[in-house]
Amino acid sequence: MRTTTGWQSTGNSTDLRQVAIERRELRDDDLAVRVDYCGVCHSDLHAIHGLVGKPTDGLVPGHEFTGTVTAVGSAVTGFAPGDPVAVGTIVDSCGECAMCRAGQENFCYQGAVTTYGGTDRVDGTVTRGGYSREYVLRDKFAYRLPAGLDPAAAAPLMCAGITMWEPLREAGVGPGSKVAVAGLGGLGHLGVKLAVALGAEVTVLSRTAEKEAGALALGATDLVVTGDDEQMKRAFGRFDLILDTIAAVHDFTPLLRLLGLQGTLSVLGAPLETSVRIMELTFGRKNLTSSGTGGTRHTAELLSFCAERGITADIELLPSARVGEALSRLEKGDVRYRFVLDLADLD
Ligand SMILES: [Zn+2]
Ligand SMILES: [Zn+2]
Repeated sequence: MRTTTGWQSTGNSTDLRQVAIERRELRDDDLAVRVDYCGVCHSDLHAIHGLVGKPTDGLVPGHEFTGTVTAVGSAVTGFAPGDPVAVGTIVDSCGECAMCRAGQENFCYQGAVTTYGGTDRVDGTVTRGGYSREYVLRDKFAYRLPAGLDPAAAAPLMCAGITMWEPLREAGVGPGSKVAVAGLGGLGHLGVKLAVALGAEVTVLSRTAEKEAGALALGATDLVVTGDDEQMKRAFGRFDLILDTIAAVHDFTPLLRLLGLQGTLSVLGAPLETSVRIMELTFGRKNLTSSGTGGTRHTAELLSFCAERGITADIELLPSARVGEALSRLEKGDVRYRFVLDLADLD
């Protein structure tokens, strides 16, 4: 076993403790990665609070990180020690089902192995995430971090970024598309940047006007206040695609009414349940869909697109010892727009 250090939850508390963590010895197709930067995702909070069916006691969260390869297994040809890499929300899948063959390993029918709280396909151990100084994973699920992308600000691309990218690509967003992003947090701010870079006209939907300046700075053309009936009425039928990043349970009706003919509401903030009036879909033949994170095909594509356009997240970088502060501020929505932990303090 290899021993490293990380941050682990006890009970449902966001007050994580520093613990020693064992990582497996390298298999033939494994990489050992020194984790340099790990983003703090809203689903880490959900997991710590036991809302997503993962074990909550002894959880080491973290599923969007960048780092440096330190060792490779005997069959690895694509990576060498010293290579900068990025790792996202899944670290293995069956590789044989229709989803895996389509490059959508995130939807693997056998169940993709999640970066933390998952079950390793070979030895059955529970995976522990990137809030730690070292991670060991199959080479297939590590991506070379393109030169020119700041490794701290690039970490959130691996969960927040890809969660925005797949629905944008699948909807064929490009010049002339009208896209709205509901919620301007870790996911939403990357949704705005990516949609703008694809050539779309982008609007932010927010409960108040408070985030307007931030929205415009990210490249949005305007902000519509969802609590303002007049503004909402004026936006009826305006959008082709809405990326809905709101994590709390909410009514989809007001958002569906902003879609034009065959427009799509993509629900990405993982509200745990909801109900919808089908008539809201009927009128305008609208689509209600959802996805989460991404497979290898889209993730590789996202990283090259971001390198080409110089897109990364807007982050607040904290030493990893301040993880508890990051989690409690994230819980209150007090972050612009993503916390990233610097794991160097674990040495
Ligand atoms: Zn995430
Ligand atoms: Zn599969």
